[in-house]
Parts: sequence; structure tokens; C-alpha cells
Amino acid sequence: MSEKLNRLKEILGEVSDLNHAGSVLSWDQQVNMPPGGGEARGQHLATLGKISHEKSTSDEVGKLLDDLKREFDGVDSDDAALVRVAARNYDKATRVPSEFVSEQAVVTTAAFDAWVAAKGRSDFSTFQPHLEKVIDLMRKYVEFFPPSDHPYDALLDDYEPGMKTAEVQEIFGKLRPQQVKLIKAIKSARPIKDDFLHKTYAEKKVWDFSEVIISKFGYDFGRGRQDKAAHPFETSFSVNDVRITNRYEPSNPLATLFSGMHEAGHAMYEQGINPAYERTPLANGVSSAVHESQSRMWENLVGRSLPFWEHFFPELKKTFPTQLDGVSAKSFYKAINKVEPSFIRVNADEATYNLHIMLRLELEIGMLEGSLAIKDLPEIWNTKMQDYLGITPPDDAHGVLQDIHWSAGLFGYFPTYALGNLISAQLWEKINRDIRDLDEQIHKGKFDALLAWLRAKIHVHGHKFDPQDLVQNVAGSKIDASAYVRYLNKKYGDIYGL
Ligand code: MG
Repeated sequence: MSEKLNRLKEILGEVSDLNHAGSVLSWDQQVNMPPGGGEARGQHLATLGKISHEKSTSDEVGKLLDDLKREFDGVDSDDAALVRVAARNYDKATRVPSEFVSEQAVVTTAAFDAWVAAKGRSDFSTFQPHLEKVIDLMRKYVEFFPPSDHPYDALLDDYEPGMKTAEVQEIFGKLRPQQVKLIKAIKSARPIKDDFLHKTYAEKKVWDFSEVIISKFGYDFGRGRQDKAAHPFETSFSVNDVRITNRYEPSNPLATLFSGMHEAGHAMYEQGINPAYERTPLANGVSSAVHESQSRMWENLVGRSLPFWEHFFPELKKTFPTQLDGVSAKSFYKAINKVEPSFIRVNADEATYNLHIMLRLELEIGMLEGSLAIKDLPEIWNTKMQDYLGITPPDDAHGVLQDIHWSAGLFGYFPTYALGNLISAQLWEKINRDIRDLDEQIHKGKFDALLAWLRAKIHVHGHKFDPQDLVQNVAGSKIDASAYVRYLNKKYGDIYGL
């Protein structure tokens, strides 16, 4: 192996250590830190981030990458992939000047505070000037990159490497009418009873049940842990230390089970990455959408399926005999899959979720292009909610102000949530062709063949392939809506007798 490659790996290994140390601090901030620690923690993270940025964007790294790109041109190997991904990260990190990064921090900090206040008062007008500044920043950011077919491409690329805006628009364009049609059909079907889901379920028992489920999935507690935090998330410091958080909401007590499955899905991906990639840029999931395909698969395709609950429901009922008195596995299954158009994205069911995303993508593109005036945003939001979901938010807090993303300058992220759903269904069709008795196995509470499949086809590769290539190689086509549409129509056709 070349000396230059060794030197690059040495530097990137240190960068990885610094970034993981920062992740440990962020995890601690959300899990353990007393409220008074916030300011100091901000400084710790800023210092680590600065050192990491300096190290990863140094002239030495640039020179090494230039030489190694030539050496590995046309080569297909892990090292070639490492050089390609490192060069890409380097290019992105060096295009954006540090003055911009500081300006962005100032603007989004103020925008976040304004958003919290505006949401509290349900008054978009006080957030509007801040959002206008954020949009100006996004336009500036796009300018740092070579011209593309669409300015949104540069934003999307940060989360979904290589994906184009036009591709997403085409996929969503096919998906939207299908989902709208399904929801209309469900609306005229007989409503599902789910009152028993909202009784009182003791937190400790729900939490323990969640750990039973994810252990059976194959989440390795010897290399992970589940802690309580305000928001469920997954974070990885190494393939041998991948942690998740969860929460308990008394108004929706069993949601803990599903968010545990979701985050464990993310975590099993990270636990399954080739250990040889440790301390390199290949030791991550490949993109936000592929990551989300893993979490959604365990949460929805497995965890909201009938075979799954035919296995787990008797145990759940034994744990909560009064709450689930008179409830069958089948009626429990129907209740956890109840479709109801609602205002808030994070509470949306599988049949309506993607429509919340499509609405946001259209608005993000409109704002960036300038074809949409920021002051008109609440009105356009409400009109689209009516068109897609048949409901109109009562106020801005339940509409345009509900998500944190825009105040934080996170543009380009939303579509990956929906793309993840689509990929999960594409993979699921392939898995079911490869593991013919998968339903039977899930019915018995066996998940080892499923996890082994995901490990071999997706997890082990880490960031080695571009997401569209990975999906193409594994599922046989690029990201596409048809498998998800088949899945939704079959599932909800059965549940609602359509
Ligand atoms: Mg997720």
C-alpha cells in the first residue's frame, strides 16, 4: 500500500476520532447533561469542530487526495472508494468559506429562537424575516458549487449524494396521485377502533418490552444501549458502540415501542458496517434515505405487520391484561395501522406521511427559486394540505411552523424521509423473493435471516457505493415509487376492506 494512502488514513483516522468525540459530547448533552452545562458544551463542541475542520481541509490532505485520485482512477477497491468519498468530502468542505459558516451559525441561531417564539404564539409573521435570511443563505451556499440543472441539487446532495432534484420530482409526481387516491378511499371506509392504545400503560413495562423486541431483532446491547432523551435518535461512535435514545409520552404510550424499533433499525445498520472501515469516511451509512429505509423497514414493514403481532401480542397482552382486555392480535394490528390525515408530520401514519414530505419539498423548491413569496407561505401550506390530505390546519403552529428544519437551515433533508420509505418497500420485495418463508419466520419471532440479508447486501458496505447504485444493485432498480404503492394498496386494502 502506498505511503500516501497510509498518511491519508492516519489523518482521516484522527478526524474521525475528533468527530466521534464530538458525537459523544452531543449524546451526553441530550441524555445526561444538567441544564447549566449548555454554554460550556457549546464551546467544547465548537473547539472540536474547528480542529476537525482544520485537519480535514489542510493543504496536505488536498495534495494527498490529488495524487491518490490519479493513482486509484478506474480502480474498484475499498481503498479506491475511500479516496473517492474523502475527495468528495474535501471538495465540499473547502468550497464553503469559514466566514459563511460563521454567518450561517449567527443567522440560524437567531432564526431558531424566532421560530420557537413564533410557534408558541402561532404567528408566522415574526418568523418570516428570519426565514427570508435563511433562504438568502441557502442561495449563497448553492453558489459555492458548480452550476447544476437545479439550484436545489446542491442542497439535496448533502444528504443524498448524487441524487438530482428532477429525479425526486419525477418519483414524487408518480407517487402523489396514488397516495391521494388511497386516502380518499380509506376516508369512506369504516373507521378503525383504537381507543385502547390511549389507555395508561406503565412506562417501565413499555420500555422493557421495547428492549425485548429490539434484542430479538438483533440490536446488539453488547455494542449499544438505549437511553431516555427528549427526542429519539441514533448515534454511532464506532461499529462497536452504536447507541439509541427513546422517549415515553403518556398520551401515546405505545409509541415507545415503534420509535425503539425505528432507532434500532438505524443502529443495526451502523453495527453491521465492515469493521475494516473503522476510522475512515466509509464507516457510515451511505445516505439519509438509505439509512431511513433501514429504520422504516424494522418499524413498519416488520413492526407494524400482522405476523409480527401474531407473535408478540400474546406477550403484550400478558404484560397489559386490563388495557388490552377483549382485544385480539388482529384488532391490535388494525389499530396501530389506523390511517387518519393529521396536521403534524411526525405523527403521520404510513399512508399519509409521504404527502407531508411532498408538500415541504414543493415549498422548499419554490422558496429557493423565488417563485414563491415567503409571506404567502402559510396560505400556500394550508391550500396544499387541503389538496393532499383534505384538512386545513387551524393555525400556523399546526401548519407551516411545526418543523424545526427551516429555522436550522436544513434544506434538502425532507425528501430523504419519503425516499427512505420507498427504498424500504423496494428492498422488502427483493427480500421476500430471497427468503421465501419470511412471514413465517416473523410469525415465530425469528429475524436472523432478515438481518443477515440486510447485513450482507446493505450494512457491510457502509459508504462504499453511491446510494442510487447500491439500491440498483440490490433491488434491481433505482429509487422508485411502485413497490411502495403496491405495499400500501395491499396493506390498507386488507385492513380497510377496499
Ligand atoms: Mg429516522
